[in-house]
Amino acid sequence: MRIGILGGGQLGRMLALAGYPLGLQFRFFDPSPQAPAGQVAELVVGDYSDAGALERFAEGLDLITYEFENIPLEAALALADRRPVYPPVRALEVAQDRLREKAFFRALGIPTPLFYPVQTQNDLLDGLERTGFPALLKTRRLGYDGKGQYLLRNPADLEAAWAALGGQPLILEAFVPFERELSILAARNREGRMAFYPLVENHHRGGILHTSLAPAPHTPARLQHQAEAMARRVMEELGYVGLLAIELFELEGVLWANEMAPRVHNSGHWTLEGAETSQFENHLRSVLGLPLGATEPRGHSLMRNLIGLRPEAARVLAIPGAHLHWYGKEVRPGRKVGHITLRAETPEGLAQRQEALEALLTG
Ligand code: AMP
Repeated sequence: MRIGILGGGQLGRMLALAGYPLGLQFRFFDPSPQAPAGQVAELVVGDYSDAGALERFAEGLDLITYEFENIPLEAALALADRRPVYPPVRALEVAQDRLREKAFFRALGIPTPLFYPVQTQNDLLDGLERTGFPALLKTRRLGYDGKGQYLLRNPADLEAAWAALGGQPLILEAFVPFERELSILAARNREGRMAFYPLVENHHRGGILHTSLAPAPHTPARLQHQAEAMARRVMEELGYVGLLAIELFELEGVLWANEMAPRVHNSGHWTLEGAETSQFENHLRSVLGLPLGATEPRGHSLMRNLIGLRPEAARVLAIPGAHLHWYGKEVRPGRKVGHITLRAETPEGLAQRQEALEALLTG
C-alpha cells in the first residue's frame, strides 16, 4: 500500500516510522524541501495551490491522509476527487475555524467556553457584555501554540488587542479558570470501530506544550467516560476515520472542549513507548480499515518536548526508562526539535525520573 501524507513535519515522520513494520510505503507533500519527513520517505515539494504538484503527489497512491490541519480546503477537496482522503475533509473544515469548531461542539451538546463571533469593535463590546473579563480574543483561523490570541484582563487591554488582531475574523471566548488541561485521543477505523486512550494531562509554557503525563494522574473514571462520550459524538457525526485529539479543560469535575485536531497529536507521543499500540500505528490502522490496536497504557509515562534544545543523547539515555526522539530539524529558539518519553512502573518512580531529566535539561 502506498500512502500519501499532506504535511512533512515530525508528525508525518513518526507516522512513516510506525508504518514501515506494516509494510507500508509513504510519499509526503510539503512546501519546504527541508521537511523532516523527507529524511525517511519520498517528498514532493510544492505549494498547496499548485495543482500540478498535487497531481504528481497523488499519482499511484492508494489513499491520502494528513498530519497538518491548515491545508487549504481546495487542495484537500481536489485530492478527495481522485483518491480516498481520511480523516474526511469536513473534519478539516470544522477544525480550521475556531468559530465553526465551537458551534459544532455546542450543536453536539459538548460543553465549550461561552463564545461570540467578532468582526467589528462593536461586536467585541457586545460580546464582552456576555463573557465579562477576563476573556480571550482569538483569530478564527491559523492560530496555534497560543499564537493569534490576546488575553483581555480589563477594558484598558481593548485598544492593544484590537491593534494586534482587528481586521480579520475573530472569536471572543470567556476565560475558563480551569484546574488543569487534559486531552483525549481516540481512533475510529473504516468499519466504525473506535478505541480510546486514557486521558492525558498537559502542561504548557509560553503557549507551547511542554510536558504530558499519561494516564493523567488522579483522574476519576467519570471524567474518562465524559471525554470518550465527547470523542464518540464528534467522530460519529463526522463519519470520522483516523486518529482524533480533543483538547479539554477540567473545571470542578467537568470537562469543557477547547479545540480538536483531526490528526495525530503532540499529547499522544507518549503512546510510542507508553501504550500497547501507538497513536501513529492506530491512525494508520484506522485509515487502512485494519483492526485497531489495544490502547492500554504500559505503566506511567511522561512526554517532555525539546523546544529549541538539544541535550546530549548519552546523558538523557542514562536515565532509566528514557527514550529519545529527534525530528531531524535544525535547533532554533521556540522550535520543537524532539521529545523524550520517560516510563516507569509507578507514579513515584516516574516523578523521580522526571526530576533527574529536568535537572539535566535545565542544569
Ligand atoms: P488554543 O490555541 O485555543 O489551544 O489556546 C492555547 C492555550 O491558551 C490553551 O492551551 C489554554 O492554556 C489557553 N486557553 C485557550 N482558550 C482558553 C479559554 N477560553 N480559557 C482559558 N484558557 C484558555
